[in-house]
Amino acid sequence: MHPATESKRHISRGALVGALALFLAQSTTCAFVATGAEPAAKKSAPTKRPRPLTWEERSEIWYNQPETLKAPALAIAENLFYVGNKQFSSHLLVGKKEIVLIDTPYPVHFDMLVDSIRSVGVDPAKITLILHTHRHYDHNGATFRMKKLSGAKTAIGAKEIRGRLQKPHVLEPAIQQYCERRGWAYEPFDIDMLLDHGQQIDIGGTVVHCHHTPGHTPGTISYSFDVTVDGKKHMAFLFGGPGLQTLRWANNGYPGAAAERKRQQIEDFTRTFDYLKTLQVDVPLGAHPFINDTLGKYERQQKGEQPNPFLDPAGWNKFLAKQEASYKKVIAEMKEK
Ligand SMILES: [Zn+2]
Repeated sequence: MHPATESKRHISRGALVGALALFLAQSTTCAFVATGAEPAAKKSAPTKRPRPLTWEERSEIWYNQPETLKAPALAIAENLFYVGNKQFSSHLLVGKKEIVLIDTPYPVHFDMLVDSIRSVGVDPAKITLILHTHRHYDHNGATFRMKKLSGAKTAIGAKEIRGRLQKPHVLEPAIQQYCERRGWAYEPFDIDMLLDHGQQIDIGGTVVHCHHTPGHTPGTISYSFDVTVDGKKHMAFLFGGPGLQTLRWANNGYPGAAAERKRQQIEDFTRTFDYLKTLQVDVPLGAHPFINDTLGKYERQQKGEQPNPFLDPAGWNKFLAKQEASYKKVIAEMKEK
């Protein structure tokens, strides 16, 4: 999640509408400049750039207008479907014994998630296991509702849990408080299984391998499994926590005093990147769809592009190199301060 932040600022709808109006007004100004039709006298005036919406402003839209995030449900491989929305990923992996959902978005996106699962021909009530990449709200917000519908077991990285495992478990009190301040639903759920590095889950004909890849959070888990694309088996890999923004958060989810929390997080992220470079990934999946261009690849797939655009080992290597470079830059900036 990226409630980023522990900002105490509450965005009212009025303020949001104001920000949108400002954004649109400034966009219009920029369009005018771009046409070259602006009178010469105005050219010396300072150019106002549109202020990009903050994560909080955008997330308010995602929360209150779920329909703006509607995305087509799609088949990435014969046994793997994307059932998330335009902002938050959910993947459905169909085994012979188990039907597995990986991550759920905000609670208010639940109906959309259910529709997407149905549209790929799977009955959501038959989901048996819900795996999570990490503790943030945009990766498990609708799990309570999905568990209630299906009776599925739930699992998350062992290091995402602090203290005793409660039922239902509040994954991060700071996030619960954040949601309450914004008037958002926060629905803790029972956790049935804790995951660690090297754990394997046999779902019938397919084995899900768990990789502990901490950094974004202490207990981030990535998943790999075989998928069948165009009749051949390939390794799909979902990196559960590529987001670097938590490096800048005072509360990064790690235990201990501030300096120790940061030291551990940096050590973890460095080790995670070193580990990821040892993997051979054929089908990179995104913890958010923009990470691996899920929807763009779908459009190309629909146009009949060969080989299947979801087969993208070069894309994975490129993403990893870019992400690691960004990581090193963030660390260098942090050390300068
Ligand atoms: Zn996150």
